[in-house]
This record gives sequence, C-alpha cells and structure tokens, in this order.
Amino acid sequence: MTQSELQNILAEAVDRSNILIRHFDGTVEYWTNGCQRLYGWSADEALGRNSHDLLKTKFPVPVAKIEAELLANGSWQGDLTHQHKDGRWLLISTDWALLPGEKGSAPRVISTHTDITSRLAMERELDAGNQRLRQMAEELERSNEELEEFARIASHDLSAPITTARWLTDLLATRHAQQLDQDGMTCLRQISSSLERMADLIDAVLAHALAGKGAIAAQHETDAGDALSAAMENLRLDIATSGTVIESAPLPKLLIRPQALTQLFQNLLSNAIKYRRPAVPPKVEISAVDEINQSTIEVRDNGVGIEKEWFERIFLPLQRRHGARVKGSGIGLATCKKIVTRAGGEIWVESELGVGSAFYFSLPRAPTSG
Ligand code: ADP
Repeated sequence: MTQSELQNILAEAVDRSNILIRHFDGTVEYWTNGCQRLYGWSADEALGRNSHDLLKTKFPVPVAKIEAELLANGSWQGDLTHQHKDGRWLLISTDWALLPGEKGSAPRVISTHTDITSRLAMERELDAGNQRLRQMAEELERSNEELEEFARIASHDLSAPITTARWLTDLLATRHAQQLDQDGMTCLRQISSSLERMADLIDAVLAHALAGKGAIAAQHETDAGDALSAAMENLRLDIATSGTVIESAPLPKLLIRPQALTQLFQNLLSNAIKYRRPAVPPKVEISAVDEINQSTIEVRDNGVGIEKEWFERIFLPLQRRHGARVKGSGIGLATCKKIVTRAGGEIWVESELGVGSAFYFSLPRAPTSG
C-alpha cells in the first residue's frame, strides 16, 4: 500500500466515524459523515454552528468544570445527552481530546461520539427485570415461611391430643384388659398402632416443614464426613440390629448447615437399612466426586431397588412405593429434596430392582476444600 493509498483509507475511516472537530468555544470546524448519520445534520448545516447549541447538549456537571478538566488533563471522557435533528434524545459516550492551537491561537477539540442509548435502555430493562425477580424471590420466601410456620403450629397442636389418646389406650390395655375380650384387645392394639403411625407422620411433617430452614449457608462450611458420622451415631441401633456395613470414602466440605446435612444422610441411610433385601447383608457405600464449584455425593445400597417409573415420584411428599408393608411416612425423601434444593443443589436416584439403589446429591462446595 502506498502512502497516498493509506492516507485515503484513513480519511475514509475517519469520515465514517462519529468525529467532529471544533474550536474550544464550540464552533464546528469539521463534521464527518458518521456525525451526519448519528445526528441527522449534514456537514453544511453543522459547520460554523456551536456544537453545544446544535446538539442541545445536556452536561452531567457544569460545562465550566468539564472545560477546566480538559485544559488541565488534555482530555475528558463522559456521557452526554444530545438531540438528533428529528428531536430524539440520544445518550452519547464522548471522548474529548485537546489540540493545542498553533502560535498562540485558541486550542481545538477532537470530539468522538458513541451512541449508548440502546445499551442504556437494555441495562435499564435488565435492572427492572432483576428488581422484579428479587421481589418475586422475597414473596416466595415469605410465603414459604408462612407455610412452614403453619405446618409447625398444626403439627404441634395435633401432637397434644394424640399423646393423650396414646396414654389412654395404654391405660385401657394395662388397667382394663380383663374387661375386654379377644376382639376388644385386637381393636385396642390396632388403635394403638394407628396412633403411633399418626405420631410418626406428624413428626415427619414437622421435620419436613423445618428442614429447609437455614439449610442455605453460603458462609457455612460443613465437613460431610462429620455429618455422616453424626447421622450414623443417630442410627446406631438400626445399624447394629440390621448388621449394616457402611463404608465411606473421604468426603468434602460443603456449603450447607451441619444439621441439614446430617438429616440428609440420616434419611438416606435409614432408607438403605429399611429397604434392604431379606437374606442379603446390607451394605452402604458413600463416595464423592468433586467438580469446580460443587461436589456430588453418592449413597449406594444393595437393597431391594426401585422401578424406573418411581425415580421422580419418591421425592414427592407422601409417595410410598412400599405402602403400609414397611413402616414409614413417605416424607423422608421429600425432606431430602427440600434440604438439597434450598442449599442450591439437586438430588436424584439411579436404581436396579433386586440389585440396589444409588442416591446422588450435589451441593455447592466450600472453596478451600478438596
Ligand atoms: P418412607 O421411607 O417413609 O416411605 P421416603 O420418602 O423416605 O418415605 O421414601 C419414599 C419411597 O421411596 C419409599 O416408600 C420406598 O418405596 C422408596 N425408597 C426410598 N429409599 C429407598 C431405598 N434405599 N431402596 C429402595 N426403595 C427406597
């Protein structure tokens, strides 16, 4: 490329850009095609006019302050509002550069303009969208809290009459057994076991209502190994009587409250014990896979297994694949899901009938661990 070719190309490039050259006082001396496209005024219309008058410039601070900064630093950058020839207002990001005047004459200013009107509109829309989302999240949080409070009060109030009824049936069975025939005793035993089941259900509903509370713990690191040990301690009797062998690989630190993680492990372990295969020594293996920001924990058992069509349903409250044959409330896994979801993770199952099940849950990982 020859020197003159280069100069032509550069002149073309400048002409396409939104650049104007003006005297320090504002008189336009040079007005590109780019400026015509941006503001609607042609070079003939703009030359010799005061650019601030022509474009009805609105300054963010007094213009004298901007000019003082320009003189002191040789340049100024900022956002200005300009009016297009057709009356539209545009938000313009400007860059002013001072060109010292020759032989004592007044300096000139090279002014470069970028239209940020649509970017600003998009930012405003995004801000409004974020604001709406924040409001919705707050409302959801509030209604969740109300629901939890309702469940807490309801289960508390339901417990009292059940406790009385259980106490009275016990009294009947011990003090008045002689007055009851075989049939009466059978009825009493059934009432007693129904009441026991109802009390268990209420406990489970209460645990479920309170489960999510405070599960989220952005600053709270919990050693998953410690939470597992606490869950095993709580289930010591069940583990011993069933002869369950539990093996765990080293586990990471997770961003969840310790009580919530313990309850999660406890529900999964107690299911693994409950849904064991007859005549197969129960075994549970726990391991973890670390990803960048989260870890996935696997709790694998060698129990009865679950059919594929139940993989999602079992995480819903009161969904029991085993019905009344095995003791339970049908709430344990729903509680697990609530805990994990509230802490920002996911839970799912993979299983083969007659072979065993693997429950997986992912949770945000503490930055320092693993
Ligand atoms: P519950 O055990 O009280 O019935 P859960 O919510 O803990 O309630 O479990 C829901 C259902 O999922 C259970 O009824 C059972 O059929 C099935 N299930 C849960 N864990 C296992 C498991 N480890 N092996 C086989 N089935 C399971």
